[in-house]
Amino acid sequence: MRTQVGIIGSGPSGLLLARLLHLQGIETVILEGRSREYVQGRIRAGVIEQGMANLLREARAGERMDREGLVHEGINIAFDGRLERIDFPTHTNGKVVMVYGQTEITYDLMKAHIDEAGGIAQYESPAIRVEDYHTDSPRILYEQNGEQKELLCDFVAGCDGFHGVARQSIPSDQIKTFQRTYPFGWLGMLSDVPPVRDELVYVNHERGFALCSMRSHTRSRYYIQCTMDDKVENWTDDAFWEELCRRLPPEAAADVTRGPRLEMSITPLHSFVAEPLRFGRLFLAGDAGHIVPPTGAKGLNLAASDIYYLFRALLAYYKEERRDLLERYSEAALRRVWKAVRFSWWYTSLLHKFDDDAMNRRLQISELEYLTSSEAGQTVIAENYVGLPYERFE
Ligand SMILES: Cc1cc2nc3c(=O)[nH]c(=O)nc-3n(C[C@H](O)[C@H](O)[C@H](O)COP(=O)(O)OP(=O)(O)OC[C@H]3O[C@@H](n4cnc5c(N)ncnc54)[C@H](O)[C@@H]3O)c2cc1C
Repeated sequence: MRTQVGIIGSGPSGLLLARLLHLQGIETVILEGRSREYVQGRIRAGVIEQGMANLLREARAGERMDREGLVHEGINIAFDGRLERIDFPTHTNGKVVMVYGQTEITYDLMKAHIDEAGGIAQYESPAIRVEDYHTDSPRILYEQNGEQKELLCDFVAGCDGFHGVARQSIPSDQIKTFQRTYPFGWLGMLSDVPPVRDELVYVNHERGFALCSMRSHTRSRYYIQCTMDDKVENWTDDAFWEELCRRLPPEAAADVTRGPRLEMSITPLHSFVAEPLRFGRLFLAGDAGHIVPPTGAKGLNLAASDIYYLFRALLAYYKEERRDLLERYSEAALRRVWKAVRFSWWYTSLLHKFDDDAMNRRLQISELEYLTSSEAGQTVIAENYVGLPYERFE
């Protein structure tokens, strides 16, 4: 089989790239290791920056998001028994974020690209490795129904997440990686109950971090910081609600509606960046190239900004026979990646409990007091949270 752009992975980055290219008449084939139902059902991110929302509109897959997504104009930060609000439009010239689940985005992109436009996506077809990416005809070796096959392409987009094979196809002396593992995880619970507040509440508490998030007016996503070796089996629904309420300021805890779990899982927290993101005709995008702790809600949004740059680079190649943007992809994408990695690390450090050191705790509280009471401090949080602008790339 042959295509113009072979895409490994049908997560948000692979689907978005395929959809944008398809609308420009550029052929793609997506190879995905899991079943379509499995990919669609994965519960993950939910906060969308304006840059990503605009890209979904450009992909003509943003209609339901615009109808059902919740526009958020701020976040709340709770610390030392107080609840402070950071207003986005005031500090960012009118910017906001959209709350709309990754599962919904995945569904919308699959429907638009596969069901309506007839785009090719082969599920249960795991890629094994990428070969010949330094030639004009790279190949993806993959497995389907127990048989080994190959997909010949002009370009390969490695959109196959952190554990994918695209990055692993690069010899270790040609790629540099940076990583940090945080000494805790997030225990997350999804429940069909109304959220405690209309906007997200980030909590710094002496017992550990908590986050009150949501997917809709009737579906809440709550998280509490847990130890790295904790297990979902250790938690009943009641124990989760009790611990969450202990960490919230009393007036917010009193408003929590409790209900049974729809899902409960533990997410470890890591920062990881691979450099570069381009190897000849193989490009890494999204979690395949970098991951961030979820505190700043940046993982999914970074996947979208990579696709913004990669899509434009491929378009310039096919429509104008230009190679310059392909050559600049890694540099441009990584500039934005590192800023988000920095923000996610800083925001994680500000809100989590790292140890029992009383001095560290007082310093966190003092920094939060300063940030939430200063216009400059509020701007630092707001402009990073709504997402730093994409560079012009043309
Ligand atoms: C548990 C969890 C919670 C998260 N919560 C948040 C959050 O709250 N906020 C936030 O911003 N981000 C969050 N993230 C991060 C966010 O979900 C990711 O950044 C986003 O999914 C990246 O999209 P992607 O398409 O690059 O990668 P993925 O969504 O990981 O998609 C990669 C795809 O490639 C497929 N694949 C892997 N290997 C192969 C192979 N060999 N062959 C073919 N296909 C393959 C995988 O099955 C998958 O479908 C979370 C991530 C996880 C894991």
